[in-house]
Amino acid sequence: MKLLAPERRILTKDIETPNLFRIETYEAQGGYQSLKKALSLTQDAVIEEVKKSGLRGRGGAGFPTGQKWSFVPFQSGKPIYLLCNADESEPGTFKDRVILEKNPHLLIEGIIISSYAVRCHKSYIYVRGEYAEAAKIIERAIEEAYQKGYLGKNILGSNHSLDLVLHRGAGAYICGEETGLISSLEGKKGQPKLKPPFPAVSGFLNCPTVVNNVETLATIPWIIKNGGDAYAQYGVGTAKGTRLFCLSGWVNRPGVYEEEMGIPLTDFIEHYGGGMKDGAKLKAVIPGGSSTPPLTPEEVSQATLDYDSMTKFGTFLGSGGIIVIPEHFSLLLLLERLTEFYWDESCGQCTPCREGTGWLYKMMKAIEHGKGRTKDFEDLQKTARSMMGTTICALSDAAAMPVLGFLKKFPDEIKAHLKEGTEASV
Ligand code: SF4
Repeated sequence: MKLLAPERRILTKDIETPNLFRIETYEAQGGYQSLKKALSLTQDAVIEEVKKSGLRGRGGAGFPTGQKWSFVPFQSGKPIYLLCNADESEPGTFKDRVILEKNPHLLIEGIIISSYAVRCHKSYIYVRGEYAEAAKIIERAIEEAYQKGYLGKNILGSNHSLDLVLHRGAGAYICGEETGLISSLEGKKGQPKLKPPFPAVSGFLNCPTVVNNVETLATIPWIIKNGGDAYAQYGVGTAKGTRLFCLSGWVNRPGVYEEEMGIPLTDFIEHYGGGMKDGAKLKAVIPGGSSTPPLTPEEVSQATLDYDSMTKFGTFLGSGGIIVIPEHFSLLLLLERLTEFYWDESCGQCTPCREGTGWLYKMMKAIEHGKGRTKDFEDLQKTARSMMGTTICALSDAAAMPVLGFLKKFPDEIKAHLKEGTEASV
């Protein structure tokens, strides 16, 4: 097993430094030097480095970051906005919180460099309402950055100016979807919009808008300091670099751990998680946040933490939220909770999502409470399939995929329960 050496970490090398959230401590660790370097380069050269790095968005979709920046029509004459998506809400995902609370200046430096690259002069951090502590820390860090001349007019004597504003959401999962986030920031209901037009062309206030996730933006200072080629040395195939993986569920040491992409999943769980709690047997792993289909123990033993491996097993790396499920845990209870979550969070605009999430939850609740019928297995499949690819945003798919995944890979447990009609227990 080849693990990432602590000194090679990109995002968390200094994370345990006391008071890293204060600007003086961050500067003492070499903070804001990448910004100085970036401002000495042309904007296109900064974009080129990010393209070379192969960095893909860390929010879940995995779209190449440099390419996303290139879609912005720089000559449109309209203001360009950069929005930092800190609305981290996917169950099982809590990695951005670590950056927000422990190393806020890394994120702010990433935002300033990125804003320079995409010719943006006003940027927002949209943080989920529940992250109250993170919001306080970020707010103070923004003030410090203004005082030091890293934000505001003519940053460090350059021609680049940037205002950065923190905006707190009100606790809706759907505002983590980029067009939902934009609607919310505009003061409207946080409801997603059909694409195209894509935000890069017409987003916030109908202006070109780049939306990037916290971890993505926090990676930019390292890429500028060391070069895109150096970043691309990390990882495997189309999965370059390192990632913050969240490990939760039935393991001895849940937490957020940075690893190089491509590490075997079993090694990751064993080394960082300290293996299964109480020596329990593994039943399944959800690899990328609650909306990603599960892996069976056999698949877990073969899977590596990268995009291609996950695709091979019919799932996704998603938001990096790895949830470990032990043999004794009821999948029916798990599906009841998950379907309830997505039903509650659907914004209600699209019929397949609004009705489908409700039906999935009603059926799972009935099954879990011992009132299932044999035909429910097929009805769950039919309902979930009708929700895929038919709606404005991906929440509908996100609700359907885990249901379909569990039905496909663990049919016996669900069918047996329908037959027995007994209430499931943890
Ligand atoms: Fe709203 Fe669901 Fe439609 Fe997304 S898919 S826009 S959450 S109703």
